[in-house]
Amino acid sequence: QPTIGVLALQGDVREHLAALRSLGADAISVRRPAELAACDGLVLPGGESTTMVKLARIFDLLEPLRDAVRTGLPAFGTCAGMILLADRIEDGAAGQETIGGLHITVRRNAFGRQVDSFEEDLHVDGLADAVRAVFIRAPWVEAVEDDVEVLARVETGPATGRIVAVRQGPLMATSFHPEVGSDDRVHGMFVDLVRSA
Ligand code: GLN
Repeated sequence: QPTIGVLALQGDVREHLAALRSLGADAISVRRPAELAACDGLVLPGGESTTMVKLARIFDLLEPLRDAVRTGLPAFGTCAGMILLADRIEDGAAGQETIGGLHITVRRNAFGRQVDSFEEDLHVDGLADAVRAVFIRAPWVEAVEDDVEVLARVETGPATGRIVAVRQGPLMATSFHPEVGSDDRVHGMFVDLVRSA
């Protein structure tokens, strides 16, 4: 079984661990470089991206995370985790850093205050049926480079067409929270990616 870590500095770690375990992965919490080194893949959960970067620095994890992603560790970022994987942030906190690696520009809190949080049925490339996608103060992907595959776009409302799921080689990211609820198909896509890496 692949060992898949969940960055456990802050955010909804437990739900990701549960989803990964239900798919047969050996899921572990990652707070230290040694734990990161044991992983065949890594999930970056939702939460607060500025806080997570600060904590990653304090825990001496920021450079090891950058190295790991740069050298091909499969990684899956959800919501704040998508922001962490992005090369560029639009409207980020002043000087906000990321881990980077994913050739995208994200816009934080992109859906605005009025629609802070919402759900919709979303068709994700590679999945037969729609997933119920939960967005919580979510970012969207403002721009992608040519090597990034768009997996899903918003299908209703004023944000229709906005990119909310992407893949680039061993990296995956979603604006929404696939760990909420009992549908583990999006995690399944990532576990497959780790297995094939
Ligand atoms: N708005 C948060 C951020 O910018 C992300 C929200 C979430 O992960 N649910 O980090």
